[in-house]
Amino acid sequence: MARIKMVAGNWKMNKNLQEGVALATELKEAVKNPKCAVVIGTPFIHLATVSELLKGSAIKVAAENCADHEKGAYTGEISAEMVKSTGAEYVILGHSERRQYYAESYAMLEAKVRLALANGLKVIFCIGEIKEEREAGQQNEVVKAQLEGSVFGLSAEEWKNIVLAYEPVWAIGTGLTATPEQAQEIHAYIRSLVAEKYGKEAAEDTTILYGGSCNEKNAAELFACPDIDGGLIGGAALVAEKFLAIIAAR
Ligand code: PEP
Repeated sequence: MARIKMVAGNWKMNKNLQEGVALATELKEAVKNPKCAVVIGTPFIHLATVSELLKGSAIKVAAENCADHEKGAYTGEISAEMVKSTGAEYVILGHSERRQYYAESYAMLEAKVRLALANGLKVIFCIGEIKEEREAGQQNEVVKAQLEGSVFGLSAEEWKNIVLAYEPVWAIGTGLTATPEQAQEIHAYIRSLVAEKYGKEAAEDTTILYGGSCNEKNAAELFACPDIDGGLIGGAALVAEKFLAIIAAR
């Protein structure tokens, strides 16, 4: 995957099926020739319907998670193969809410990433520090450990299907946004880590999104930074008007 600009939405546990279909329909009608890739991450139960609805449109669909096992007796889990079979093309993995509330470890995330890639999905892999780590100046070591722990074992070929999303946890859903300077600084650092691991060319081709209270008001300023290739959007992705304004800002 060459470096692409992208705006991706993460609906989280919001919207019932009918509401999700209504939002996806509104977006489909409005997004005709976007200047960037557009992805919406929906709850599992929406995936098949929304993928069918958006078939042939400019919008791709992502799951927000997948299982860390291939198949079998894991009641309630959804495998990467099942996600793929719905028509979804992406999966968001490593989101801080999954790490925090569902104790997803580096090893578990590595298993999920490998299964997603093996089943032909592209991965939006989230990394980012919590408030106390930022205050202690540890953000660089935190993101480095998250990358080394779950995705730096991938081959160069596998890496082409990884999109990174830097999401400072203190900015997610809080209304606090990293300043463009803070975000650019760590995005450049993340790109340097990718260069060390996979080479300069691969690093230049890697899409790195910013997430954390990114909205229609601050998106343009963040997206103007050279190492910020787009956004992973939570709250503002639930309102068509706001999400469309962010897409227009990219
Ligand atoms: C997210 O959860 O990925 C996110 C960025 O949320 P919000 O935009 O609401 O901060």
